Amino acid sequence: MDFGFSRSVSIVELPESSSQQVPENREAIPPTISTELRISLKTKGHDPIQICLELPEIYTLPWLTLTTGQNPCGSAKSLEDLKFQYHKDCKEKTNQCASVIIVGENGTFNHEVPKPLYEEKKHTEVIIIEAVDKYLDGNYKNQRRKEEIIVIFTYNSPCMKREKKSIEPCMFQLFKKAHQWNRDYGFSVVILFTKFWGPIGPNTIKFTEVEINQLYSWFREFSNVPIQVDSKELCKRFKDIKQNQLLSVVPKEYKEKVRCDLKKFKKDLMDLTEIKQPLTVKQLSENGEEVIGNLRQVMCYFSEELVPLSNIWHEAVKSSAVKRIKAKITADGNSEIFKFLQNRESTSQNRDPISIYQISQNL
Ligand SMILES: [Zn+2]
Repeated sequence: MDFGFSRSVSIVELPESSSQQVPENREAIPPTISTELRISLKTKGHDPIQICLELPEIYTLPWLTLTTGQNPCGSAKSLEDLKFQYHKDCKEKTNQCASVIIVGENGTFNHEVPKPLYEEKKHTEVIIIEAVDKYLDGNYKNQRRKEEIIVIFTYNSPCMKREKKSIEPCMFQLFKKAHQWNRDYGFSVVILFTKFWGPIGPNTIKFTEVEINQLYSWFREFSNVPIQVDSKELCKRFKDIKQNQLLSVVPKEYKEKVRCDLKKFKKDLMDLTEIKQPLTVKQLSENGEEVIGNLRQVMCYFSEELVPLSNIWHEAVKSSAVKRIKAKITADGNSEIFKFLQNRESTSQNRDPISIYQISQNL
């Protein structure tokens, strides 16, 4: 069993709140759409890939530019050639930014949303949906159906799960809207994203304590996959141990020495988390045991009181290993869901009005 990561799909958590502020008086730079391009788009019919390949040369937003691989002035040969380039100096961009562009008979429309409305728990895609609804209602109502394309860019793919069950995930809302916009106006939707955010997260996998212990025993014995011990986790465990309790049993004249020994013990363990080369659980346990052995030697009269301190390292290693196992399971699960999403069009008899593509990022 291999617990290494080989998939390109990564899991991205969607924070529900943030203190990030949007600067006032932000100037939006509208994309330049030439008449020639519009004609060229129309002659290509409604093939979403061809239309997206035409867009990057001209698509620039305050926080991102969509470029065509090696040559920003050239044409992309495939979707893999497209890259989001995030402007480093743009503070307002977030991983949840989204934007939309519609190049249609009745003009060009674009709208960008750099971050969610955290207080209202409103994701950027929902704001985009509202903007498109308003635009289509104002510009295409009661007209003959047009075979136009709505291109939506998101950094993280639209979510498929919300913490609050009463809020419908953005991906489902987009599916519904795409069908509605297609029925009412003839439009199709193309979604381009950089990182896939799947519905499976570490909390989805609910192991019992017994299962965790069995899984960890197996991983410790047989896996050669290196892991990194989380230094924050180790620090937290140190804080949870009440050192004063331990020091209270130490005679006054030794207190200072014991304090120094404990400080060195903590530093030695923290140093183990900073080793550049990741180690297996077995190697990490052995290294930790050496540090614990040193402490036992200098504090041999307090063996009973040392038990919680000795356990700290092994608990942190175990917790980091379990996190790694869960990350592998979630990445594989989400990857399968993504494949299903991409391939579902080939299983449907009617042409689906929504297509989803992953494109790369160039920071
Ligand atoms: Zn969402």
